[in-house]
Amino acid sequence: MNDFPYAERFSVNRTLPESGRPRSDVLAEMRSMAQEEDAFWETGKVSGTMYCGDHEHYDFLADAFGMFAHVNALQRDMCPSQTKFEGEVIAMALDLMHADAVTDTEPAGLLTTGGTGSILHALVAYREHARETRGVTRPNFVKPETGHAAFDKGCHLFGIELRVAPVDPKTTLADVDAMAALIDDQTIAIMGSAGNYAYGTIDPIAELAALAAERGVGMHVDGCLGGFILPFAEDAGLDIPLFDFRVPGVTSISADTHKYGYAFKGSSTLLFRDKALRQAQYFHLLDWSGGKYMSPGMEGSRSGGLIASTWASMVSLGREGYREHAREIFATAAAMMDVVRSHPELRIMGDGTSGAPTFCFSFTSDEFEIYHLVDFLGPKGWRFNGQQYPNAIHMAVTRPQTRAGVVEQFTADLAEAIAYAKQKESSGEQAYAGAIYGGVAGGLDQATADFIVAVMDDMLDKQQSLPPA
Ligand SMILES: *Cc1c(COP(=O)(O)O)cnc(C)c1O
Repeated sequence: MNDFPYAERFSVNRTLPESGRPRSDVLAEMRSMAQEEDAFWETGKVSGTMYCGDHEHYDFLADAFGMFAHVNALQRDMCPSQTKFEGEVIAMALDLMHADAVTDTEPAGLLTTGGTGSILHALVAYREHARETRGVTRPNFVKPETGHAAFDKGCHLFGIELRVAPVDPKTTLADVDAMAALIDDQTIAIMGSAGNYAYGTIDPIAELAALAAERGVGMHVDGCLGGFILPFAEDAGLDIPLFDFRVPGVTSISADTHKYGYAFKGSSTLLFRDKALRQAQYFHLLDWSGGKYMSPGMEGSRSGGLIASTWASMVSLGREGYREHAREIFATAAAMMDVVRSHPELRIMGDGTSGAPTFCFSFTSDEFEIYHLVDFLGPKGWRFNGQQYPNAIHMAVTRPQTRAGVVEQFTADLAEAIAYAKQKESSGEQAYAGAIYGGVAGGLDQATADFIVAVMDDMLDKQQSLPPA
């Protein structure tokens, strides 16, 4: 794959150009990139990432964004609209998570820049709240192995010790006893996912929340992925375990508007059972020469466009819109899972458990290296997300997969891919994709760590060393 295809077609800017270019010229160049890149996922063969995929919806969001793109939501005296939009996004998300079931405390929320943002804010809130109310000075946080990498990132950033409990390999779900064994008097909170990123399975939230309540620690539900689709599972006739504020002991939930909320990338909600938790992460500096400063979350200046377009997405769809999209996605995912099940060589992770996958599913094979399938399906335009321990691949079903013909294409291509994989396996060949996505035995060695750093450096710096067009 060439990460820098445009170097040969468009001029590379290594310095700020002395004279500007005509706007029409700039836009034409950008449009050609956007159109080519959209063609990649418009086939419906790409897992996750383009949750809506409907250009009419995107154009509508862009209109809403454009009206407020230049607005700084930090300066509320100039933009009461942002106070309305943000407050209503939070209220609507709380409603979806059944905050009305909370009677002992006052629920509250935050609008953040994404799933990672919501998780980071939750970690800071729990750390500060535990320090203030329990005197915790050496904070730790407990997650099942399937908990998203953003929890590891947040613990890394905020000086919180992360404790990782193994999951039940049969069901992929959090092992409540293993979680319990890691909790001590310095634990600020534990978490479970609804559903988790890798397998789309839903952890036993009620049991985890009961454990958290009994031990006096917080319980975060990571609904970043499922938060805006699972509330409509019951309407679609699916039986899924409760994961929201109706479950006693659930103290916070993250739900991404920029995934199944069909808003633009850069927005997510973080919801608290108790306003005190939200307040614990507020920041203010009242004796600064620059004036009195306060911000409710980690960002300073914020884009009014993102808040406005997130609000626009939610109110334009309403429950009806979300319900209908969810119904189609659940039905498509069920059909795709049936295709996978029709091949005895394949196994869906967590199939048949109480928190079984309903919209995002992952599969592996006990007969051949699963990445052989990626080698075959990749050139046909399919893009699955690769996983490890065990090696598996997943498909987060989104609106583009619900289009006519996609499931049929999946059926045909998967059958051919399996024949290819079996042949490769019997001739003892390695899968190319396995080298990128597959499990690294025995942890990371120095060479791999150096390689990862080089990949990230290239992402940021390589334009500077590319040959001129
Ligand atoms: C996507 C995701 C996140 C992280 O969200 P970003 O929006 O990528 O920052 C966290 N948890 C789960 C379950 C997710 O699917």
